[in-house]
Amino acid sequence: MDTQLAGIPASTGVVIGPARLYHTQVPKIRPRTIESDAVDLEVERLYKAVAISEEQIRSALGREDTQDGDHTVRDILNTHLVYLKDPMLIGQTEQRIGEQRESAEYALSQVVGEAERIFSGQEDPRFRERFADIQDVARRVLGNLLGRMTDLGSDLSHRQVILIAHDLSPSDTATLPKDRIIGFATEVGGPTSHTAILARSLRIPAVVGVTGLLEQVADGDTIILDGSHGTLVLGPSAEIRQRYEQTGRQIEADENRLRTYAFLPSVTLDGHALDISANIELPDEAKDVLQYGAGGIGLFRTEYLFMRARSLPSEEEQFQAYRRVLEYMEGRPVVIRTMDLGGDKFAHAIPVPDEMNPFMGWRAIRFCLQNRGLFRTQLRAILRAGVFGRARMMFPLISGVRELQEALAFLEEVKEELHNEKVQFEEHMPVGGMIELPSAVMVAEDLARHLDFFSIGSNDLIQYSLAVDRINEKIAHLYQPLHPGVLRMISHVVRVGHRQETPVEICGEMAANPLCCLVLLGLGMERFSMSPGAIPRVKAIVRSIRMEQLRSFGERILDISTAEEVERYALRVARRILPRYPWDEEQAFPVRHEQRSHEAVADTDLVVEASLRR
Ligand code: PEP
Ligand code: MG
Repeated sequence: MDTQLAGIPASTGVVIGPARLYHTQVPKIRPRTIESDAVDLEVERLYKAVAISEEQIRSALGREDTQDGDHTVRDILNTHLVYLKDPMLIGQTEQRIGEQRESAEYALSQVVGEAERIFSGQEDPRFRERFADIQDVARRVLGNLLGRMTDLGSDLSHRQVILIAHDLSPSDTATLPKDRIIGFATEVGGPTSHTAILARSLRIPAVVGVTGLLEQVADGDTIILDGSHGTLVLGPSAEIRQRYEQTGRQIEADENRLRTYAFLPSVTLDGHALDISANIELPDEAKDVLQYGAGGIGLFRTEYLFMRARSLPSEEEQFQAYRRVLEYMEGRPVVIRTMDLGGDKFAHAIPVPDEMNPFMGWRAIRFCLQNRGLFRTQLRAILRAGVFGRARMMFPLISGVRELQEALAFLEEVKEELHNEKVQFEEHMPVGGMIELPSAVMVAEDLARHLDFFSIGSNDLIQYSLAVDRINEKIAHLYQPLHPGVLRMISHVVRVGHRQETPVEICGEMAANPLCCLVLLGLGMERFSMSPGAIPRVKAIVRSIRMEQLRSFGERILDISTAEEVERYALRVARRILPRYPWDEEQAFPVRHEQRSHEAVADTDLVVEASLRR
């Protein structure tokens, strides 16, 4: 019998393949002692696991996808090779096996525990970095002792697999070997968690927020992952498999057909030209965005440079990365957002204490203003790179005027420094602010006086205005982009923008949802930025509508008082103005349906998302 698991759709597409379980935690090891005559055998086991680990790392180093421009993955793997030979780690483990008669797993876990006690008291980030390496290497060796996969970079077999994990860390996702992982599913996460966002950028079908996933799936099980509907089918029958294969082919064909829109202008039937740009996380993604029809880059999430690196990227490394993106874009605008670390995005090299509410804590601009050294380096790199294209700078999570002024004053200081050093930089780079806090919405008028543009970060604006943690799958159904509270805020910002002649963009995920996109157009939004893969569909929609059809729609929608009514009304209007588009309720609000019964999932599994057929 097929078992269906429902989660949250994170990245579209259907894949079928063997499951590979990935354990991100260093496993808890129970104490186990061995007989004195078993010591040699135990030491042999340890060194066998070390040898397998070395082999895995060397094979990863030989693979093409670790030969990337900035060497990050290679650097990490090379460091791991050094630690495999470190007497402090393996030597001491061997010693414990001999002296304390502990099992290899337990001895190693004790050595790591001891290292943690020593390193955690140190202020210097290099010690922290060193401990992160020790932990990674120990996790790999333990994994090999226990026969579990604990590292993505190198211990995958040559087969293509569907990765199953409790969660994926930012550096896991940033270094996913795309040639081997055809899809992934996680137990935690919401539609706008970093894992979901990155899956869409990498165009790997993914489902997040699947409760009980690791208990139900075993290594090697054949599974179907439907990232468009957020479902997994375990042990599918031949018939179900065939149906999903058909669905997968259909989705691919639809996407290919939509790609023809990529190269057409984003102009409505009544001649309104709209800006549609791409969001990117990693510099080399910029290479492909033009193929999806992006007019520029509306959001470069620079924090991923920090998240995927083991050590802090230097000013020069950052400068090269920003310059590369600007050059790929050949004069088109590029919005470089200063690092938005914190929340669910952390970097190995930047120690931050655990917080009860990380999204409310040491994050984004507030983190930068308290870590001026890091901030200075980044601002210098962005300003210097600005000479090589049309760069714009943007600050995340601005809460009010005072904070913005502080950031702007610091920017002036950095410019002055570059000036005094006679370093070439872009003096007149436009500066924008993200509107993603309700307080920023309320003081938008004041913020506009200091900024060249606004970009609405709806992922955070929704989270903060509805108090719904964007990565918590348990409350994902409460995360409502079309909540009247959210829409009225967006409308307010658009109006302020018009009044003050401050361009307003939107770069949150809601821009890519076809129904939300119509609502946003109705509210007067004209600039959108989204994951590149979503651009052709949005262009197709834009090219099939008349703005005049949406005007009264936008006004009327602001009078509605519940999200459910807004959704119903918006769907009705959408069906009227675009009758050929398959306005499937489940597709429009996938998360809301996360709580449906398993039978209902089975009934709707095969709803094929057709493209616009003209
Ligand atoms: C947002 O909050 O909508 C946004 C685009 O920023 P991020 O998703 O990186 O927080
Ligand atoms: Mg944000």
